[in-house]
This record gives sequence, structure tokens and C-alpha cells, in this order.
Amino acid sequence: MDSWCVIFFFTFLGASLGSFLNVVAGRSVAGTSWWGGSRSHCPKCGTVLRWKDLVPIVSWMFLRGRCRYCGSRIAVRYVAAEVWGAATGGLLAWRWGLSPALFPALAAAFGLFLNALTDLEEGYVFDIFPLAMGICGIASRVLPGGGSLLDGFLGALAGCAVISLIILLSRGGMGWGDATLAAGTGMILGWKFTLLTLYLGFMSGGVFSLALLTAGKLRRKDAVPLVPFLAVGGMLTLLFGPRILSFLNIDPGLPWR
Ligand SMILES: [Zn+2]
Repeated sequence: MDSWCVIFFFTFLGASLGSFLNVVAGRSVAGTSWWGGSRSHCPKCGTVLRWKDLVPIVSWMFLRGRCRYCGSRIAVRYVAAEVWGAATGGLLAWRWGLSPALFPALAAAFGLFLNALTDLEEGYVFDIFPLAMGICGIASRVLPGGGSLLDGFLGALAGCAVISLIILLSRGGMGWGDATLAAGTGMILGWKFTLLTLYLGFMSGGVFSLALLTAGKLRRKDAVPLVPFLAVGGMLTLLFGPRILSFLNIDPGLPWR
């Protein structure tokens, strides 16, 4: 397949997945079932939406962010989730092509994205999602051979250990959900990419918090959710990790070579 076709396909898939995970996050927080239930409808007027209202990003742009039936504004989180999903799918397909690294990369990025949504909305990480990520990690590491699987377990251990240490030292700020998530992510990424993700996540979180503190939008005591920054760190690692590590003369390990 032509590489532009691959990128286009995963951009579209990513937008749909972003839209779906936004619903999953919302339903997890609300405690309702992920599948089935009511069909997509406008929260204001209750009209059941049709396919032409549900094309990711395109419908929102065409309708200028308003419901076709009652004209009320569509919450920005819907289109934001679609845009982030489209960018994630497209960029990862551009970076990895149809290689064995693409699917673990997508699993890590979209897993982190889903947990970032529930963390933003509720300040909570649902254990089931990191667990699913860990299973993805094991599944993707069984075939390449023993060293790869060990790398995954070391990644899970490293992620969990770093966050646990911070929890024990700082007493608050981060929760055990963050440690579970770092473990699930680590199983997919392996230990080198995991440490790089944590490092880039903490750096981006620090820069962002400092900017907010300086602008007076944040007080020193306010808790800043960690997972959105882990998602940013994970994305940066999945895109630039091999280059950063080769700069340090480190082999990223399978499947990231
Ligand atoms: Zn409406």
C-alpha cells in the first residue's frame, strides 16, 4: 500500500477511535455500560443523530460546531478528541509505517489518551484500562522472542517503581492509578521507552505548570493531573524516541529499532 494511503487510513481510523474513546471515558465516569444503550443523540434536544452528523471532524466543521436540529453548541471535547485521535493515528502511521511497531505504538498512545480523558474529567484512572494495555503489551511481545517479553516486564516494573517512589516521597499529588497506568504502558513500551516517556511527561507537565503559575492561573497547592502529560510524553517518545536514544548511543530495543 502506498504510504500516503496508510497515513490517510490511520488518520481517519484515529479520528473515529478518538471519538469512540471519548464516549468510553464519559460512560466510565458516569458508570454506564460502554456498549449499546441509547444511540448517539444531541444532549440538548435529544434528536438521534444520523451518520452525516457523526463523521469525525468533518461534521463538526460543516455544522460550525452546532447541532443541526436545535442549533445548540456542541461541546468542544468531542471535536478535540477527534482531532487528537486523527493526529495520533496519522503521525504514528507516518513514523512507523506498516511495521510491527505500529500496533503497539497505537495501543500505547490511545491507551494513554483514554486514561488522560478520565483523569481530566474525574481525576481517576480505571484499573481495567491499564490492565488491557498490559495484555496488549504481552501479546505484542510474545512473538519477537524472550528478550522482548523480558523488556516489557522490566518496562512495567520501571514505570510502576518510579511512580510508586514519587507517591511515597511526596505523599499526595499522584495516586496508585498513575502507578498502575505506568506499569501497563511500560509493558507495551519496554523499559527504555518507559523511562523516556516518564521523563518527557514530567518535563512537559513541569513547563505547563510553571507557565500557569507565572500567569497566576494556578496556585502552588493545586493538583495537576499527571496522565495528560504522560500521554504527551508517550507521544513524543513514540515519535522521536529512537532518535533521542541513538543520540545517547542507546539501542531502543524491539520493536522500536
Ligand atoms: Zn440538538
